[in-house]
Amino acid sequence: MIPFEYKQAEDEHTAVATVTGNSRAAFLGGGTNLVDHMKLGIAAPELLVDVTRLPLDRIECLPDGGLRVGAAVRNSDLAADSAVRERYPVLTQALLAGASGQLRNLATTGGNLLQRTRCVYFQDTTTPCNKREPGQGCSALEGHTRYHAVLGASKHCVAVHPSDMAVALAALDALVHVQGPDGGRAIPATELHRLPGEHPEWDTVLRHGELITAVELPPLPFATRSRYRKARDRASFAFALVSVAAALDVTDGIVRGARIAFGGLAHKPWRARLAEQALLGRPATDDEFRASAEAELADAQPLPGNEFKLPMARNMLVATLRELSGDDAP
Ligand SMILES: Cc1cc2nc3c(=O)[nH]c(=O)nc-3n(C[C@H](O)[C@H](O)[C@H](O)COP(=O)(O)OP(=O)(O)OC[C@H]3O[C@@H](n4cnc5c(N)ncnc54)[C@H](O)[C@@H]3O)c2cc1C
Ligand code: SF4
Repeated sequence: MIPFEYKQAEDEHTAVATVTGNSRAAFLGGGTNLVDHMKLGIAAPELLVDVTRLPLDRIECLPDGGLRVGAAVRNSDLAADSAVRERYPVLTQALLAGASGQLRNLATTGGNLLQRTRCVYFQDTTTPCNKREPGQGCSALEGHTRYHAVLGASKHCVAVHPSDMAVALAALDALVHVQGPDGGRAIPATELHRLPGEHPEWDTVLRHGELITAVELPPLPFATRSRYRKARDRASFAFALVSVAAALDVTDGIVRGARIAFGGLAHKPWRARLAEQALLGRPATDDEFRASAEAELADAQPLPGNEFKLPMARNMLVATLRELSGDDAP
């Protein structure tokens, strides 16, 4: 590993100023992604500013019924929080579907959102990759594409976003609060991550030096009936082939509200607004659930190795909505 300097952040403003003032500085959360990348030679920051001891480790109930989650809250603590379990079970399930217990004890809310793709070519510095080094080309296009994107990809990159938690946050319309050199702003979780387009090297809309301080979950009464499902190659320590986060409001057999997002399909958590629209006011039946999935996936462009993701996504969505519309739904 290349030598680097380590500092513990004293307060938010100093942390932001320190990273902003050095183009080779980075914030450090639990380190479970960044330190791996430093070992692999993918990242070489000369200064790490550790933000885990800032007072950003609380989960607060908001007066409107929502929750505010500090960016340094550990994934295990967020999954176990009683208000999250009761009001947003989809978030607890997404967190518990990710990584391992030991990793979740270290990983933070901010760091989980900003973890980088698990594309094997991105992680192998001997192969060309436009995300690591713009202009090099994309090894995945001629390679192993089982894990890659079927929606929203570009000719420059077909990687998928790996976070399970981020998929649940996209479905819940969470807001990501950030503090930067010019003040604070709030970014909808659905807009934090980018599609690759011409610039796959930019994963998010954040500018260098912007610190995630909190994630806000707005109230969503029907999220008490929500579910995260994940299909993967192994039962643990595996990223999603396809995942779905959904919350459903059904009254008298008719869908009154739906929130759906997919993981494993795109460069960002994929909020399925077409599927949601197709469901509203419709009977809660398998045929309608299937039609909503088809509406969302109509423009998908699978690669030779990942056509299976389309029936997998459709079937997972149908099964999840069926479960949520049943009388014994969670
Ligand atoms: C074997 C293994 C299996 C895994 N399986 C899964 C899985 O199935 N699903 C899943 O979702 N994840 C999985 N993970 C990934 C794991 O969830 C992430 O590594 C972790 O969430 C990253 O959080 P962190 O706090 O350690 O981030 P760090 O490694 O500390 O940071 C990651 C990035 O975020 C930046 N950062 C950190 N905090 C902030 C902040 N507050 N503001 C701005 N920038 C910040 C850092 O600069 C860095 O760029 C797995 C990891 C491993 C090693
Ligand atoms: S898919 Fe993206 S991350 Fe993977 S090799 Fe191609 S450019 Fe790199």
